[in-house]
Amino acid sequence: MIRIGHGYDLHRLVEGRALMLGGIRIDHSRGLLGHSDGDVVLHAVCDAILGALAIGDIGQHFPDSDERFRGVASSELVRDVARLMRDEGWQVSNLDITVCAEQPRLAPHRLTMRTRIAELLAVPVTCVSIKAKTNEGVDAIGRGEAIAATVVVLLGDVTRAS
Ligand code: MG
Repeated sequence: MIRIGHGYDLHRLVEGRALMLGGIRIDHSRGLLGHSDGDVVLHAVCDAILGALAIGDIGQHFPDSDERFRGVASSELVRDVARLMRDEGWQVSNLDITVCAEQPRLAPHRLTMRTRIAELLAVPVTCVSIKAKTNEGVDAIGRGEAIAATVVVLLGDVTRAS
């Protein structure tokens, strides 16, 4: 048995916030606005896994009306979703992540992000792909007003683990 899931998220870039992306802190003049730390990559990872399991989305599981999640590290949300996934009898086979950001340049941080996400999901780093794109100066992402991420995940039935 396999399940596929897709996740998408976008957050605005604003001054006075640390930039958390893919579970790591990246030096930048602005950070992502959000009820949590605003990590779009990890939010899209959560939504992809929840989608594969057909058990709702990140907003249902961690509502931004809930004070418990104010300022929460998104790595904690990923850990919770991973726990739910294991409880349902599934494990991550692989993830393919695309990050759309005009700035900062993400290539130097790609391996660190992959390593962190692999650690959060307890999979080898070779199961986590991250591709970075700019939006060629077009639209809000292209103007540097926001960062977006899409994620596709494949889950495998733990009983058939190789
Ligand atoms: Mg989000």
